[in-house]
Amino acid sequence: MIAGGTDLLPSMKQGLFAPRVLIDLKGLRELDFIRFDARRGLEIGALTTISALANSQVVAREFPVLHEAAKTVASPLLRNMGTLGGNLCLDTRCLYYNQSEFWRGSLGGCIKKDGAVCHVAPGSDTCWAAFSGDTAPALLALEATVELAGPRGRREIPLAELYVNDGLVRLTKAADEMVTAVRVPAANAGWLGTYRKLRIRQSIDYPLAGVAVVMRKRADGSCAQARIGLTAVNPMPRLVTASDRLAGQAYSAALVEDVAREAIRVGKPLKTSASTMEYRRQMIQVFVRRALTDLWRSAN
Ligand SMILES: Cc1cc2nc3c(=O)[nH]c(=O)nc-3n(C[C@H](O)[C@H](O)[C@H](O)COP(=O)(O)OP(=O)(O)OC[C@H]3O[C@@H](n4cnc5c(N)ncnc54)[C@H](O)[C@@H]3O)c2cc1C
Repeated sequence: MIAGGTDLLPSMKQGLFAPRVLIDLKGLRELDFIRFDARRGLEIGALTTISALANSQVVAREFPVLHEAAKTVASPLLRNMGTLGGNLCLDTRCLYYNQSEFWRGSLGGCIKKDGAVCHVAPGSDTCWAAFSGDTAPALLALEATVELAGPRGRREIPLAELYVNDGLVRLTKAADEMVTAVRVPAANAGWLGTYRKLRIRQSIDYPLAGVAVVMRKRADGSCAQARIGLTAVNPMPRLVTASDRLAGQAYSAALVEDVAREAIRVGKPLKTSASTMEYRRQMIQVFVRRALTDLWRSAN
């Protein structure tokens, strides 16, 4: 399946895969929409471009974490072409995989392509390539669901259940299923939110680590509820459940630090990118600390 083709086509040019048939989804204009209703929540069609998300006033107002994440995806041109469905179904990325055929061949391939060894974790029999999409951690933190459609009909699953923590398998959806829509419950509208992203080139780059944080506060400034999503540091985007410790608490730097430390137990960056795993790990902790502090101490 090809939507915007912004991830698929460069990978095909690198010889990472050569599908016999490609189904172009771009003509499905009925899957290009953003709808918000205070009772039913947010619904976004899978063919909605990342630009449309980044420019949507309702997304900016009600779901700032998704708005911020969308604004950081790739570059303006790629955001105009790239879709939300493609962003959520991105292939996993690795230093030893996203290379030319010649480069990969000199190492004898890797477990994800033409080889038996994972160069990131040579003793491992699974692939550790990292999921590197920016909108997934924001949507995980917002408890989004995805609608899948295929020859056996339609079904809706929590976004968290779309992913597998194996860089080779990646997704739980069947090969003949496509994502048609993403939904965010109304109960998560209006939460404070922010997205922090580590990348080499600020103007255009996949994340080396990404942290999405949402928070709902009480009138007295205490935290009613918070959620934290991570990307680019595991084969799947993940939630940091230690954020539950913040519920009902007044701001405390020690509590923030405690949760930020827990985040690096969940985010386990390996040697999958141009940056070191130690730096990426450290930055997860820094981003979680800064994001929680900023949201908790903001005037809203
Ligand atoms: C230089 C460069 C920088 C980039 N930087 C970033 C970045 O910072 N952050 C980021 O998140 N992405 C980045 N990307 C990747 C990409 O541009 C975006 O993720 C984009 O949103 C992908 O959407 P697409 O429609 O182009 O996907 P495609 O390339 O068309 O598809 C990607 C994958 O999803 C599958 N797919 C597409 N639509 C569906 C669907 N509806 N249902 C099921 N499967 C589907 C395809 O089969 C394919 O496997 C970058 C790409 C490039 C080339």
